[in-house]
Amino acid sequence: MTTDPAVPRDLQGHVALVTGASRGIGRAIALELAAHGADIAINYRSSESGARQVAEAAQAFDVRTHIVQCDVADVAAVGAMVKEVSDALDAPDILVNNAGITRDALVMRMKDDDWDAVINTDLKGPFAVSRACLRAMIRSRWGRIVNVGSVIGSMGNPGQANYAAAKAGLGGLTKAMAKEVGSRNITVNLVAPGFIKTDITADLSEEAVELIMGQIALQRLGEPEDVAPLVAFLASDRAQYITGQVFHVDGGLVMA
Ligand code: NAD
Repeated sequence: MTTDPAVPRDLQGHVALVTGASRGIGRAIALELAAHGADIAINYRSSESGARQVAEAAQAFDVRTHIVQCDVADVAAVGAMVKEVSDALDAPDILVNNAGITRDALVMRMKDDDWDAVINTDLKGPFAVSRACLRAMIRSRWGRIVNVGSVIGSMGNPGQANYAAAKAGLGGLTKAMAKEVGSRNITVNLVAPGFIKTDITADLSEEAVELIMGQIALQRLGEPEDVAPLVAFLASDRAQYITGQVFHVDGGLVMA
């Protein structure tokens, strides 16, 4: 067991479902929640081997794990995913809607398929997975939903109208759900990363990175591990009076 005495085991007894957790930010979030003692369901779309590696790494924190395949854009499959997790671990009472994609093009040239794929994965997916998890959270009168948005949902970005619309929509979904389920002791928040070093940002040109860095107060791109601790905090009892909020984790890119 590699538990760090500096990290409180404050999520012990909880089951967390993290979507898109086989790599990148989702992986870091899954491992952070495991370090805090939560049992972890690792959702993946295609990378079973990546999901297995995350499960093995999480087990080092002496928690139970389950890997579960599901395309979150396939609304019909989402119920079966949540049932599989509930049977294997218990009903998830922490949900992190992290899975997301980009399909960039200028609006003038954007194909319907590119629009639909991003809206279905980045916005309809979180709606469907949240809906499937809420019944059990309401029954147990405790729940945490953390949606992973993006600064692009606040700033916009040329070539990313579909992504900006999906992530801005996720902000609206977050606030509406927070108001719907607050009376049941369920919180819903949105963590909006800036530019984080993962596969999604791997293709940025050197010039684009330099341009972005010039706008980041801390003068560097983020790491997935810069995002994960806030998610663990929002999932904990220490964040019990925080709901319907948007948190930018971006090194000081967006200052509202
Ligand atoms: P990533 O591409 O490394 O990870 C995305 C994960 O989501 C992958 O594991 C992928 O397989 C999974 N996924 C995609 N579509 C899915 C689907 N339909 N069903 C299930 N899983 C699916 O990128 P990342 O940077 O780790 O992104 C994680 C989240 O953070 C995304 O929502 C992304 O929009 C958001 N985000 C990332 C950045 C960044 O700079 N990296 C910035 C802001 C927001």
